[in-house]
Amino acid sequence: MATATATATAPSRPKVRHTECFVGGKWIPAASGKTFDTLDPATEEPIAQVAEGDGEDVDAAVRAARDALESGPWSKMDARDRGRLMNKLADLIEEESEELAALETYDNGKPIRDARAADLPLTIDCLRYYAGFADKIQGETIPVRGNYFTYTRREPVGVVGQIIPWNFPMLMAAWKWGPALAAGCTVVMKPAEQTPLTCLRMARLAQKAGIPDGVINVIPGYGPTAGASIVKHPGVDKIAFTGEYKTAQIIMRDAAPTLKRLTFELGGKSPNIVFADSDLDAAVAGAHFGLYFNQGQCCCAGSRVFVESKIYDKFIQKLADINAKRKIGDPFDPETEQGPQVDKAQFDKIMHYIDLGKKEGAKCVTGGKRVGSKGYFIEPTLFTDVTDNMSIAKDEIFGPVMNVLRFKDTEDIVQRANNTFYGLAAAVWTRDVGKAHALAKAIKAGTIWINCYDVFDAAAPFGGYKMSGMGRELGYKGLEAYLETKTVTVALA
Ligand code: ADP
Repeated sequence: MATATATATAPSRPKVRHTECFVGGKWIPAASGKTFDTLDPATEEPIAQVAEGDGEDVDAAVRAARDALESGPWSKMDARDRGRLMNKLADLIEEESEELAALETYDNGKPIRDARAADLPLTIDCLRYYAGFADKIQGETIPVRGNYFTYTRREPVGVVGQIIPWNFPMLMAAWKWGPALAAGCTVVMKPAEQTPLTCLRMARLAQKAGIPDGVINVIPGYGPTAGASIVKHPGVDKIAFTGEYKTAQIIMRDAAPTLKRLTFELGGKSPNIVFADSDLDAAVAGAHFGLYFNQGQCCCAGSRVFVESKIYDKFIQKLADINAKRKIGDPFDPETEQGPQVDKAQFDKIMHYIDLGKKEGAKCVTGGKRVGSKGYFIEPTLFTDVTDNMSIAKDEIFGPVMNVLRFKDTEDIVQRANNTFYGLAAAVWTRDVGKAHALAKAIKAGTIWINCYDVFDAAAPFGGYKMSGMGRELGYKGLEAYLETKTVTVALA
Protein backbone atom coordinates (compact mmCIF):
# COMPACT_ATOMS: atom_id res chain seq x y z
CA MET A 1 0.00 0.00 0.00
CA ALA A 2 1.07 3.56 -0.56
CA THR A 3 2.50 5.38 2.43
CA ALA A 4 -0.06 7.69 3.94
CA THR A 5 0.50 11.38 3.44
CA ALA A 6 -1.88 13.59 5.34
CA THR A 7 -3.49 16.55 3.67
CA ALA A 8 -4.41 19.39 5.95
CA THR A 9 -8.20 19.30 5.90
CA ALA A 10 -10.50 17.23 8.08
CA PRO A 11 -13.68 16.34 6.16
CA SER A 12 -17.04 16.23 7.89
CA ARG A 13 -19.15 13.09 7.92
CA PRO A 14 -20.67 12.92 4.41
CA LYS A 15 -24.30 12.64 3.41
CA VAL A 16 -25.40 9.09 2.60
CA ARG A 17 -27.19 8.93 -0.75
CA HIS A 18 -27.67 5.29 -1.70
CA THR A 19 -28.95 2.62 0.65
CA GLU A 20 -31.20 0.46 -1.53
CA CYS A 21 -30.49 -2.52 -3.77
CA PHE A 22 -29.20 -1.58 -7.22
CA VAL A 23 -30.82 -3.90 -9.74
CA GLY A 24 -31.01 -3.42 -13.50
CA GLY A 25 -30.08 0.24 -13.07
CA LYS A 26 -32.84 0.96 -10.53
CA TRP A 27 -32.71 1.63 -6.79
CA ILE A 28 -35.20 -0.65 -5.11
CA PRO A 29 -35.96 -1.60 -1.50
CA ALA A 30 -35.49 -5.24 -0.52
CA ALA A 31 -38.50 -7.35 -1.54
CA SER A 32 -39.00 -8.24 2.12
CA GLY A 33 -39.00 -4.55 3.05
CA LYS A 34 -36.29 -5.31 5.62
CA THR A 35 -33.37 -3.04 6.37
CA PHE A 36 -30.27 -3.22 8.57
CA ASP A 37 -28.20 -0.52 10.24
CA THR A 38 -24.68 0.24 9.17
CA LEU A 39 -22.73 1.76 12.06
CA ASP A 40 -20.01 4.34 12.49
CA PRO A 41 -17.30 2.30 14.27
CA ALA A 42 -15.79 5.45 15.79
CA THR A 43 -19.00 6.39 17.64
CA GLU A 44 -21.06 3.17 17.53
CA GLU A 45 -23.94 5.30 16.18
CA PRO A 46 -26.03 4.17 13.18
CA ILE A 47 -25.13 5.90 9.91
CA ALA A 48 -28.02 4.69 7.75
CA GLN A 49 -30.55 1.95 7.26
CA VAL A 50 -29.65 -0.18 4.29
CA ALA A 51 -31.89 -2.53 2.28
CA GLU A 52 -31.42 -6.09 3.50
CA GLY A 53 -31.39 -8.07 0.26
CA ASP A 54 -32.19 -11.76 0.15
CA GLY A 55 -33.09 -14.52 -2.33
CA GLU A 56 -35.80 -12.65 -4.22
CA ASP A 57 -33.60 -9.60 -4.71
CA VAL A 58 -30.69 -11.76 -5.79
CA ASP A 59 -32.94 -13.50 -8.29
CA ALA A 60 -33.98 -10.16 -9.80
CA ALA A 61 -30.33 -9.07 -9.93
CA VAL A 62 -29.24 -12.29 -11.64
CA ARG A 63 -31.99 -11.87 -14.25
CA ALA A 64 -30.88 -8.29 -14.92
CA ALA A 65 -27.25 -9.41 -15.18
CA ARG A 66 -28.17 -12.29 -17.52
CA ASP A 67 -30.19 -9.97 -19.80
CA ALA A 68 -27.33 -7.48 -19.90
CA LEU A 69 -24.87 -10.25 -20.71
CA GLU A 70 -26.87 -11.85 -23.48
CA SER A 71 -29.06 -9.28 -25.12
CA GLY A 72 -28.40 -5.74 -23.87
CA PRO A 73 -26.02 -3.10 -25.24
CA TRP A 74 -23.14 -4.59 -23.20
CA SER A 75 -23.29 -7.81 -25.20
CA LYS A 76 -22.95 -5.91 -28.49
CA MET A 77 -20.48 -3.29 -27.39
CA ASP A 78 -17.00 -3.13 -28.93
CA ALA A 79 -14.35 -4.10 -26.43
CA ARG A 80 -12.64 -0.73 -26.82
CA ASP A 81 -15.85 1.05 -25.79
CA ARG A 82 -16.09 -1.16 -22.70
CA GLY A 83 -12.63 0.04 -21.77
CA ARG A 84 -13.66 3.64 -22.40
CA LEU A 85 -16.61 3.33 -19.99
CA MET A 86 -14.36 1.79 -17.34
CA ASN A 87 -11.96 4.70 -17.69
CA LYS A 88 -14.90 7.07 -17.37
CA LEU A 89 -15.92 5.33 -14.12
CA ALA A 90 -12.35 5.75 -12.84
CA ASP A 91 -12.49 9.46 -13.78
CA LEU A 92 -15.79 9.96 -11.91
CA ILE A 93 -14.38 8.22 -8.82
CA GLU A 94 -11.37 10.51 -9.04
CA GLU A 95 -13.62 13.58 -9.30
CA GLU A 96 -15.54 12.49 -6.19
CA SER A 97 -12.55 11.06 -4.37
CA GLU A 98 -12.73 13.43 -1.41
CA GLU A 99 -16.35 12.51 -0.71
CA LEU A 100 -15.75 8.82 -1.33
CA ALA A 101 -12.74 8.79 1.00
CA ALA A 102 -14.86 10.41 3.70
CA LEU A 103 -17.66 7.89 3.14
CA GLU A 104 -15.17 5.02 3.41
CA THR A 105 -13.79 6.45 6.64
CA TYR A 106 -17.31 6.93 8.00
CA ASP A 107 -18.48 3.36 7.30
CA ASN A 108 -15.22 1.48 7.96
CA GLY A 109 -13.43 3.64 10.54
CA LYS A 110 -10.14 3.76 8.65
CA PRO A 111 -8.14 7.00 9.02
CA ILE A 112 -8.97 9.56 6.34
CA ARG A 113 -5.25 9.84 5.51
CA ASP A 114 -5.22 6.15 4.53
CA ALA A 115 -8.49 6.37 2.58
CA ARG A 116 -7.02 9.33 0.67
CA ALA A 117 -3.53 7.94 0.18
CA ALA A 118 -4.24 4.25 -0.37
CA ASP A 119 -7.86 3.16 -0.93
CA LEU A 120 -8.87 5.84 -3.44
CA PRO A 121 -5.74 5.93 -5.63
CA LEU A 122 -5.47 2.13 -5.70
CA THR A 123 -9.16 1.80 -6.61
CA ILE A 124 -8.82 4.26 -9.49
CA ASP A 125 -5.57 2.70 -10.67
CA CYS A 126 -7.05 -0.80 -10.66
CA LEU A 127 -10.01 0.23 -12.82
CA ARG A 128 -7.72 2.03 -15.28
CA TYR A 129 -5.32 -0.91 -15.41
CA TYR A 130 -8.10 -3.32 -16.34
CA ALA A 131 -9.77 -0.82 -18.70
CA GLY A 132 -6.62 -1.11 -20.79
CA PHE A 133 -7.10 -4.86 -21.08
CA ALA A 134 -10.65 -4.71 -22.47
CA ASP A 135 -9.56 -4.59 -26.13
CA LYS A 136 -6.45 -6.73 -25.72
CA ILE A 137 -8.09 -10.03 -24.88
CA GLN A 138 -7.30 -12.38 -27.70
CA GLY A 139 -7.13 -16.06 -28.53
CA GLU A 140 -4.52 -18.09 -30.35
CA THR A 141 -4.18 -20.01 -33.58
CA ILE A 142 -3.03 -23.54 -32.89
CA PRO A 143 -1.15 -25.88 -35.23
CA VAL A 144 -3.06 -29.18 -35.01
CA ARG A 145 -2.59 -32.47 -36.90
CA GLY A 146 -4.49 -32.83 -40.21
CA ASN A 147 -6.04 -30.38 -42.59
CA TYR A 148 -7.71 -28.21 -40.02
CA PHE A 149 -7.52 -24.67 -38.82
CA THR A 150 -7.89 -24.37 -35.05
CA TYR A 151 -8.16 -21.20 -33.04
CA THR A 152 -9.30 -20.17 -29.56
CA ARG A 153 -11.64 -17.42 -28.51
CA ARG A 154 -11.55 -15.93 -25.02
CA GLU A 155 -15.10 -15.28 -23.89
CA PRO A 156 -16.55 -13.81 -20.70
CA VAL A 157 -17.28 -16.48 -18.11
CA GLY A 158 -20.77 -15.02 -17.78
CA VAL A 159 -22.71 -13.65 -14.80
CA VAL A 160 -20.37 -13.41 -11.84
CA GLY A 161 -21.30 -13.27 -8.17
CA GLN A 162 -18.81 -11.20 -6.22
CA ILE A 163 -18.78 -11.26 -2.43
CA ILE A 164 -16.43 -8.87 -0.69
CA PRO A 165 -15.26 -8.06 2.85
CA TRP A 166 -15.25 -4.84 4.85
CA ASN A 167 -11.52 -4.09 5.27
CA PHE A 168 -11.02 -2.29 1.91
CA PRO A 169 -14.60 -1.92 0.65
CA MET A 170 -13.99 0.21 -2.45
CA LEU A 171 -10.71 -1.39 -3.37
CA MET A 172 -12.15 -4.90 -3.13
CA ALA A 173 -15.02 -3.80 -5.39
CA ALA A 174 -12.47 -2.47 -7.91
CA TRP A 175 -10.38 -5.66 -7.76
CA LYS A 176 -13.53 -7.56 -8.68
CA TRP A 177 -15.26 -5.19 -11.14
CA GLY A 178 -12.04 -4.39 -13.03
CA PRO A 179 -11.33 -7.84 -14.52
CA ALA A 180 -15.03 -8.73 -14.75
CA LEU A 181 -15.92 -5.67 -16.84
CA ALA A 182 -12.79 -5.88 -18.98
CA ALA A 183 -13.68 -9.51 -19.78
CA GLY A 184 -17.25 -8.53 -20.71
CA CYS A 185 -18.93 -10.26 -17.74
CA THR A 186 -21.85 -8.88 -15.77
CA VAL A 187 -21.88 -8.66 -12.00
CA VAL A 188 -24.02 -9.29 -8.94
CA MET A 189 -22.06 -7.95 -6.00
CA LYS A 190 -22.72 -8.30 -2.30
CA PRO A 191 -20.73 -5.84 -0.22
CA ALA A 192 -20.01 -6.72 3.42
CA GLU A 193 -22.86 -5.93 5.79
CA GLN A 194 -20.51 -3.72 7.84
CA THR A 195 -19.54 -1.47 4.90
CA PRO A 196 -22.07 -1.31 2.05
CA LEU A 197 -22.03 2.45 1.41
CA THR A 198 -19.10 3.12 -0.93
CA CYS A 199 -19.93 0.13 -3.13
CA LEU A 200 -23.45 1.50 -3.61
CA ARG A 201 -22.02 4.91 -4.47
CA MET A 202 -19.66 3.32 -6.98
CA ALA A 203 -22.64 1.62 -8.63
CA ARG A 204 -24.27 5.03 -9.08
CA LEU A 205 -21.07 6.35 -10.65
CA ALA A 206 -20.90 3.33 -12.96
CA GLN A 207 -24.37 4.22 -14.22
CA LYS A 208 -23.36 7.87 -14.61
CA ALA A 209 -20.31 6.73 -16.60
CA GLY A 210 -22.63 5.04 -19.06
CA ILE A 211 -22.08 1.42 -18.08
CA PRO A 212 -25.38 -0.10 -19.24
CA ASP A 213 -28.06 -1.00 -16.71
CA GLY A 214 -27.85 -4.58 -15.46
CA VAL A 215 -24.08 -4.86 -15.98
CA ILE A 216 -23.41 -4.07 -12.32
CA ASN A 217 -25.98 -4.99 -9.67
CA VAL A 218 -25.45 -4.56 -5.95
CA ILE A 219 -27.38 -6.44 -3.28
CA PRO A 220 -26.48 -5.36 0.24
CA GLY A 221 -27.31 -7.87 2.96
CA TYR A 222 -25.96 -10.67 5.09
CA GLY A 223 -23.74 -13.58 4.09
CA PRO A 224 -25.88 -16.61 4.95
CA THR A 225 -28.92 -15.07 3.19
CA ALA A 226 -28.02 -12.69 0.34
CA GLY A 227 -24.49 -14.13 -0.07
CA ALA A 228 -25.61 -17.76 -0.04
CA SER A 229 -28.42 -16.98 -2.53
CA ILE A 230 -25.85 -15.67 -4.99
CA VAL A 231 -23.65 -18.72 -4.48
CA LYS A 232 -26.50 -21.17 -4.99
CA HIS A 233 -28.20 -19.40 -7.90
CA PRO A 234 -28.09 -21.51 -11.07
CA GLY A 235 -27.93 -18.34 -13.19
CA VAL A 236 -24.54 -17.38 -11.75
CA ASP A 237 -21.50 -18.82 -13.54
CA LYS A 238 -18.68 -17.88 -11.20
CA ILE A 239 -18.11 -16.74 -7.63
CA ALA A 240 -15.25 -14.46 -6.67
CA PHE A 241 -15.00 -14.27 -2.90
CA THR A 242 -12.74 -12.52 -0.43
CA GLY A 243 -13.13 -13.32 3.27
CA GLU A 244 -12.48 -16.07 5.79
CA TYR A 245 -11.46 -19.59 4.79
CA LYS A 246 -14.35 -20.97 6.85
CA THR A 247 -16.80 -19.00 4.70
CA ALA A 248 -15.00 -20.22 1.57
CA GLN A 249 -15.58 -23.80 2.72
CA ILE A 250 -19.32 -23.10 2.96
CA ILE A 251 -19.28 -21.39 -0.43
CA MET A 252 -17.47 -24.35 -1.99
CA ARG A 253 -20.15 -26.71 -0.68
CA ASP A 254 -23.00 -24.40 -1.76
CA ALA A 255 -21.48 -23.98 -5.22
CA ALA A 256 -20.90 -27.69 -5.78
CA PRO A 257 -24.33 -28.60 -7.20
CA THR A 258 -23.95 -26.02 -9.97
CA LEU A 259 -20.17 -26.48 -10.34
CA LYS A 260 -19.45 -22.78 -10.40
CA ARG A 261 -16.01 -21.48 -11.15
CA LEU A 262 -14.51 -20.27 -7.87
CA THR A 263 -11.76 -17.86 -6.94
CA PHE A 264 -10.98 -17.21 -3.30
CA GLU A 265 -8.77 -14.70 -1.57
CA LEU A 266 -8.68 -15.70 2.10
CA GLY A 267 -6.80 -15.13 5.32
CA GLY A 268 -3.20 -15.39 6.39
CA LYS A 269 -0.68 -15.59 9.19
CA SER A 270 2.14 -14.11 7.21
CA PRO A 271 5.74 -14.43 8.37
CA ASN A 272 7.86 -11.29 8.31
CA ILE A 273 11.48 -12.40 8.69
CA VAL A 274 14.11 -9.95 9.85
CA PHE A 275 17.78 -10.94 9.60
CA ALA A 276 20.58 -9.32 11.58
CA ASP A 277 22.17 -8.14 8.33
CA SER A 278 19.13 -6.05 7.34
CA ASP A 279 18.74 -2.29 7.46
CA LEU A 280 17.29 -2.37 10.97
CA ASP A 281 15.39 0.92 10.89
CA ALA A 282 13.77 0.01 7.57
CA ALA A 283 12.84 -3.43 8.90
CA VAL A 284 11.31 -1.98 12.06
CA ALA A 285 9.31 0.55 10.05
CA GLY A 286 8.26 -2.19 7.62
CA ALA A 287 7.16 -4.51 10.41
CA HIS A 288 5.17 -1.72 12.04
CA PHE A 289 3.46 -0.75 8.78
CA GLY A 290 3.05 -4.38 7.71
CA LEU A 291 0.99 -5.18 10.77
CA TYR A 292 -0.68 -2.03 12.09
CA PHE A 293 -1.74 -0.57 8.73
CA ASN A 294 -5.55 -0.50 8.44
CA GLN A 295 -5.87 -1.34 12.16
CA GLY A 296 -4.29 -4.73 11.45
CA GLN A 297 -7.28 -5.63 9.30
CA CYS A 298 -5.33 -6.93 6.30
CA CYS A 299 -5.41 -10.51 5.09
CA CYS A 300 -1.68 -10.24 4.37
CA ALA A 301 -0.75 -8.59 7.70
CA GLY A 302 2.74 -9.54 8.82
CA SER A 303 1.48 -11.04 12.05
CA ARG A 304 4.36 -13.44 12.75
CA VAL A 305 7.48 -11.33 12.95
CA PHE A 306 10.57 -13.56 13.19
CA VAL A 307 13.64 -11.65 14.36
CA GLU A 308 17.17 -13.04 14.46
CA SER A 309 18.34 -13.41 18.08
CA LYS A 310 21.35 -11.08 17.72
CA ILE A 311 19.14 -8.05 17.06
CA TYR A 312 15.99 -9.14 18.92
CA ASP A 313 16.21 -6.75 21.90
CA LYS A 314 17.21 -3.76 19.77
CA PHE A 315 14.39 -4.51 17.34
CA ILE A 316 11.78 -4.70 20.12
CA GLN A 317 12.99 -1.44 21.65
CA LYS A 318 12.75 0.43 18.34
CA LEU A 319 9.35 -1.07 17.58
CA ALA A 320 8.00 -0.18 21.02
CA ASP A 321 9.19 3.40 20.50
CA ILE A 322 7.26 3.72 17.22
CA ASN A 323 4.17 2.10 18.72
CA ALA A 324 4.22 4.60 21.58
CA LYS A 325 4.07 7.48 19.06
CA ARG A 326 1.27 6.02 16.96
CA LYS A 327 -1.65 8.45 16.86
CA ILE A 328 -4.98 6.75 17.58
CA GLY A 329 -8.32 8.50 17.52
CA ASP A 330 -10.90 10.27 15.37
CA PRO A 331 -10.44 8.78 11.90
CA PHE A 332 -11.55 12.08 10.34
CA ASP A 333 -8.54 13.89 11.83
CA PRO A 334 -5.91 13.93 9.04
CA GLU A 335 -3.17 13.32 11.62
CA THR A 336 -4.74 10.09 12.89
CA GLU A 337 -2.81 6.94 12.03
CA GLN A 338 -5.10 4.37 13.61
CA GLY A 339 -8.89 4.37 13.81
CA PRO A 340 -11.34 1.93 15.38
CA GLN A 341 -11.78 -1.72 14.45
CA VAL A 342 -14.74 -2.21 12.14
CA ASP A 343 -17.32 -3.57 14.60
CA LYS A 344 -17.97 -5.07 18.01
CA ALA A 345 -17.54 -8.66 16.86
CA GLN A 346 -14.03 -7.91 15.59
CA PHE A 347 -13.23 -5.84 18.66
CA ASP A 348 -14.31 -8.68 20.98
CA LYS A 349 -12.35 -11.27 19.01
CA ILE A 350 -9.15 -9.21 19.16
CA MET A 351 -9.53 -8.53 22.90
CA HIS A 352 -10.06 -12.25 23.41
CA TYR A 353 -6.76 -13.00 21.66
CA ILE A 354 -4.95 -10.35 23.68
CA ASP A 355 -6.16 -12.07 26.87
CA LEU A 356 -5.17 -15.43 25.46
CA GLY A 357 -1.68 -14.20 24.58
CA LYS A 358 -1.16 -13.02 28.16
CA LYS A 359 -2.48 -16.31 29.56
CA GLU A 360 -0.27 -18.33 27.22
CA GLY A 361 2.79 -16.56 28.65
CA ALA A 362 3.68 -14.06 25.94
CA LYS A 363 4.94 -10.70 27.18
CA CYS A 364 2.75 -7.72 26.31
CA VAL A 365 5.29 -4.96 25.70
CA THR A 366 2.97 -2.26 24.34
CA GLY A 367 -0.81 -1.84 24.24
CA GLY A 368 -3.19 -4.60 25.19
CA LYS A 369 -6.08 -2.33 26.11
CA ARG A 370 -9.11 -0.60 24.70
CA VAL A 371 -8.77 3.13 24.02
CA GLY A 372 -11.65 5.21 25.43
CA SER A 373 -15.12 3.86 26.10
CA LYS A 374 -16.92 4.68 22.84
CA GLY A 375 -15.87 3.26 19.48
CA TYR A 376 -13.88 0.11 18.84
CA PHE A 377 -10.38 1.48 19.42
CA ILE A 378 -7.54 -0.83 20.51
CA GLU A 379 -3.97 0.15 21.37
CA PRO A 380 -1.21 -1.08 19.04
CA THR A 381 -0.30 -4.26 20.88
CA LEU A 382 3.09 -5.93 20.81
CA PHE A 383 3.75 -9.39 22.20
CA THR A 384 7.30 -10.67 22.62
CA ASP A 385 8.57 -14.05 23.80
CA VAL A 386 5.96 -15.64 21.55
CA THR A 387 6.46 -19.29 20.67
CA ASP A 388 5.23 -21.12 17.59
CA ASN A 389 2.52 -23.10 19.34
CA MET A 390 0.72 -20.23 21.05
CA SER A 391 -2.73 -19.46 19.65
CA ILE A 392 -1.67 -15.89 18.94
CA ALA A 393 1.08 -17.25 16.68
CA LYS A 394 -1.24 -19.62 14.85
CA ASP A 395 -4.66 -17.98 14.47
CA GLU A 396 -5.50 -15.02 12.30
CA ILE A 397 -6.35 -12.19 14.73
CA PHE A 398 -7.12 -9.46 12.16
CA GLY A 399 -6.29 -6.64 14.52
CA PRO A 400 -3.42 -4.47 15.82
CA VAL A 401 -1.66 -7.35 17.59
CA MET A 402 1.93 -8.14 16.61
CA ASN A 403 3.73 -11.27 17.73
CA VAL A 404 7.50 -11.28 17.67
CA LEU A 405 9.30 -14.60 17.63
CA ARG A 406 13.00 -15.24 17.92
CA PHE A 407 15.13 -17.28 15.51
CA LYS A 408 18.81 -18.30 15.57
CA ASP A 409 19.75 -19.09 11.98
CA THR A 410 18.46 -19.62 8.48
CA GLU A 411 18.34 -23.39 8.94
CA ASP A 412 15.10 -23.59 10.87
CA ILE A 413 13.40 -20.37 9.74
CA VAL A 414 11.98 -21.73 6.49
CA GLN A 415 10.35 -24.67 8.24
CA ARG A 416 8.92 -22.41 10.95
CA ALA A 417 7.69 -19.81 8.46
CA ASN A 418 5.92 -22.55 6.50
CA ASN A 419 4.47 -24.18 9.59
CA THR A 420 0.95 -22.84 9.00
CA PHE A 421 -1.97 -23.83 6.81
CA TYR A 422 -2.00 -20.30 5.44
CA GLY A 423 0.22 -19.11 2.60
CA LEU A 424 -0.79 -15.63 1.52
CA ALA A 425 2.30 -13.46 1.92
CA ALA A 426 5.73 -13.25 3.52
CA ALA A 427 8.56 -10.77 3.79
CA VAL A 428 12.31 -11.09 4.18
CA TRP A 429 14.59 -8.31 5.39
CA THR A 430 18.28 -8.80 4.60
CA ARG A 431 21.12 -7.21 2.61
CA ASP A 432 22.22 -10.64 1.37
CA VAL A 433 20.66 -10.96 -2.06
CA GLY A 434 21.30 -14.70 -2.38
CA LYS A 435 19.68 -15.43 0.97
CA ALA A 436 16.68 -13.26 0.09
CA HIS A 437 16.00 -15.11 -3.16
CA ALA A 438 16.61 -18.51 -1.57
CA LEU A 439 13.92 -17.73 1.00
CA ALA A 440 11.62 -16.31 -1.68
CA LYS A 441 11.85 -19.71 -3.36
CA ALA A 442 11.44 -21.78 -0.19
CA ILE A 443 8.52 -20.01 1.45
CA LYS A 444 5.12 -21.27 0.42
CA ALA A 445 3.18 -18.06 -0.11
CA GLY A 446 1.61 -16.26 -3.05
CA THR A 447 3.49 -13.01 -2.47
CA ILE A 448 7.01 -12.47 -1.14
CA TRP A 449 8.23 -9.00 -0.32
CA ILE A 450 11.97 -8.42 0.01
CA ASN A 451 12.97 -5.39 2.06
CA CYS A 452 9.47 -3.98 1.80
CA TYR A 453 5.93 -4.83 2.90
CA ASP A 454 2.41 -4.35 1.53
CA VAL A 455 3.59 -3.15 -1.86
CA PHE A 456 0.61 -3.69 -4.12
CA ASP A 457 0.18 -2.96 -7.78
CA ALA A 458 -2.80 -3.67 -10.03
CA ALA A 459 -0.41 -5.44 -12.43
CA ALA A 460 1.07 -7.82 -9.84
CA PRO A 461 -0.91 -11.05 -9.17
CA PHE A 462 -2.05 -11.55 -5.59
CA GLY A 463 -3.48 -14.64 -3.91
CA GLY A 464 -2.77 -17.53 -1.64
CA TYR A 465 -1.08 -20.89 -1.43
CA LYS A 466 -2.72 -23.55 0.76
CA MET A 467 -5.77 -22.34 2.69
CA SER A 468 -5.14 -18.70 1.86
CA GLY A 469 -6.92 -18.94 -1.45
CA MET A 470 -7.56 -20.33 -4.88
CA GLY A 471 -6.58 -18.52 -8.04
CA ARG A 472 -5.11 -15.04 -8.30
CA GLU A 473 -6.46 -11.54 -8.46
CA LEU A 474 -4.83 -8.58 -10.22
CA GLY A 475 -2.59 -8.65 -13.25
CA TYR A 476 -3.31 -10.76 -16.31
CA LYS A 477 -3.77 -13.81 -14.05
CA GLY A 478 -6.66 -12.01 -12.39
CA LEU A 479 -8.28 -11.32 -15.75
CA GLU A 480 -8.00 -14.94 -16.85
CA ALA A 481 -10.26 -16.00 -13.98
CA TYR A 482 -13.08 -14.17 -15.79
CA LEU A 483 -12.52 -15.81 -19.17
CA GLU A 484 -13.55 -19.08 -20.74
CA THR A 485 -11.52 -20.56 -23.58
CA LYS A 486 -13.45 -21.77 -26.61
CA THR A 487 -11.67 -23.90 -29.21
CA VAL A 488 -12.91 -23.63 -32.80
CA THR A 489 -11.78 -26.13 -35.44
CA VAL A 490 -12.49 -25.67 -39.14
CA ALA A 491 -12.01 -28.38 -41.76
CA LEU A 492 -10.04 -26.87 -44.62
CA ALA A 493 -11.08 -27.61 -48.17
P1 ADP B 1 -15.17 -11.46 7.81
O1 ADP B 1 -14.91 -12.21 9.06
O2 ADP B 1 -14.03 -10.71 7.28
O3 ADP B 1 -16.43 -10.66 7.87
P2 ADP B 1 -16.52 -13.36 6.16
O4 ADP B 1 -15.94 -14.46 5.36
O5 ADP B 1 -17.45 -13.70 7.27
O6 ADP B 1 -15.29 -12.55 6.69
O7 ADP B 1 -17.25 -12.30 5.24
C1 ADP B 1 -16.81 -11.88 3.97
C2 ADP B 1 -18.01 -11.71 3.07
O8 ADP B 1 -18.65 -12.97 2.91
C3 ADP B 1 -19.08 -10.78 3.60
O9 ADP B 1 -19.64 -10.05 2.51
C4 ADP B 1 -20.10 -11.73 4.19
O10 ADP B 1 -21.40 -11.20 4.27
C5 ADP B 1 -20.03 -12.88 3.19
N1 ADP B 1 -20.52 -14.17 3.70
C6 ADP B 1 -20.53 -14.62 4.98
N2 ADP B 1 -21.09 -15.85 5.05
C7 ADP B 1 -21.45 -16.20 3.78
C8 ADP B 1 -22.07 -17.34 3.19
N3 ADP B 1 -22.46 -18.39 3.91
N4 ADP B 1 -22.27 -17.35 1.86
C9 ADP B 1 -21.88 -16.31 1.10
N5 ADP B 1 -21.30 -15.20 1.59
C10 ADP B 1 -21.07 -15.13 2.92
